[in-house]
Amino acid sequence: MFKAKAYSAASAASPLASTQIPRRTPTEHDVQINILFCGICHSDVHSVRNEWSSVMPTVYPIVPGHEIVGRVAQVGSAVTTFKPGDLAAVGCLVGSDGTCPHCQAHLEQFCPDMTLTFNSPDKHKTAPVTYGGYSDSIVVDEHFVLRVPGNLDLAGTAPLLCAGITTYSPLRHHGVTAGKKVGVAGLGGLGHMGVKFARAFGAHVVVFTTSPGKAEDALRLGAHEVVVSRNADEMKRHAGSFDFILDTISSEHDINQYLNLLHTDGNLTLVGAPTKPLALAAFALIFGRRSLSGSCIGGIAETQEMLDFCGAHSITADVEVIPIQKVNEAYERMLRSDVRYRFSIDMASLKSE
Ligand code: NAP
Ligand code: ZN
Repeated sequence: MFKAKAYSAASAASPLASTQIPRRTPTEHDVQINILFCGICHSDVHSVRNEWSSVMPTVYPIVPGHEIVGRVAQVGSAVTTFKPGDLAAVGCLVGSDGTCPHCQAHLEQFCPDMTLTFNSPDKHKTAPVTYGGYSDSIVVDEHFVLRVPGNLDLAGTAPLLCAGITTYSPLRHHGVTAGKKVGVAGLGGLGHMGVKFARAFGAHVVVFTTSPGKAEDALRLGAHEVVVSRNADEMKRHAGSFDFILDTISSEHDINQYLNLLHTDGNLTLVGAPTKPLALAAFALIFGRRSLSGSCIGGIAETQEMLDFCGAHSITADVEVIPIQKVNEAYERMLRSDVRYRFSIDMASLKSE
C-alpha cells in the first residue's frame, strides 16, 4: 500500500478538499498510472452531492473522477500490454467478474459484479470503496486500462473515457450513419462529443440547446442545425422527422417534446441521468411505434475502438484546463451550463498540495 494525493468530499454538503488516500501496491495483473489529466463529468457532481442516493448511495469520503489519462509508472509481473512510460487511460470501470454472459459479450458495464472507478465496494480492501481520478495516481487491473493514440492532445483525451464512450456507444448501437437525421439534446460534455461522433459517422446532426449562446459553437462542432428547445415553434418545425435522438440532459425536462420529433420507429436514447423520474406521455410513443431506451457508458473493447477511432479522425473533447484548486468553482459553473465543453483537471497542480 502507498499514499496518493487526492481531492475528496467528506459529505454531500462539503466542498472537495486536499487529502491523502491509500492505493494498493500493484498485484501481478495491475498497472500503476501517474495521472496527468482527469475530466470533470456531471456524474461526479451527482455522486459528490449524493443525488443518486436511491440507486447508488454515496459513501464518504468520495474521490470522484473517471476520465483519466496518464503515464504508466510500474506494472505487475503478469502484465503484458503495458510497460513503464506508456500512455494509458482509465474510464468508469475498474473491475468485473470476467465470466458472466455480459463480460463474455464485452459488455462489462452490465456485469452484476462490476466495480466502478469510484464509490464501488473495493474488492482489494485497500479502502471501503474505490477512489477515482482526482488524484496523482491510480492502480488498475490491466483489462480495464486503455491504450491512448499518440497523436491526441492529452487534456482533451481524458473526457473521451466517459463523455466519449457514452455517446459513441449508443450512436453505433442504433446504426447512426450517413442519411440518418440525428438529434443531440443538451450541449454539454456528453452532448458536444455526441455531435462530433454523429457528424463523423455521416449523419445530419441537429443540436437542441437551452443556451442560445452555444449556437455558433454547435455549428463549429459539426451540427448542421441548431434548435433552441425553449422555442416551441422551432421545435414544431422538426416534428416527426428524426431517426434517432440522444438525450444528454442532466436535469428534469420534458422528454415528450423530443419523442414527438421522432418519425415512425424512431428511437430516443437517454444517457443523461436526472435525479427525479421523467414523466412519459404514452401517446408520444404509441403514435409512430417510437421507442425509448437508455445506454450506459460502453464495454472495454468498445472503449478502445472509440479511442482508436478518435486517433484516426483526430477527435478530442473541447476542454478548459483547470488546476485542481478550481474544482469546486468548476462544479458551480457546470451546473450553470457555463463550460465549453468539459473541464479537464491538470493533475500537476496537485504537487503543491
Ligand atoms: P453537462 O456537461 O453539465 O451537460 C448537460 C447539459 O444539459 C447542459 O450543458 C445543458 O445543455 C443541458 N441542460 C442542463 N439542465 C437542463 C435543463 N433543465 N433543461 C434542458 N437542458 C438542460 O453534463 P454531462 O457531463 O454532459 O452529463 C450529462 C448527463 O449524463 C448527467 O446526468 C450525467 O450524470 C449523465 N451521464 C450518464 C452516463 C451514462 O453512462 N448513461 C455517463 C456519463 C454521464 P444546453 O446548455 O445546451 O441546454
Ligand atoms: Zn462520466
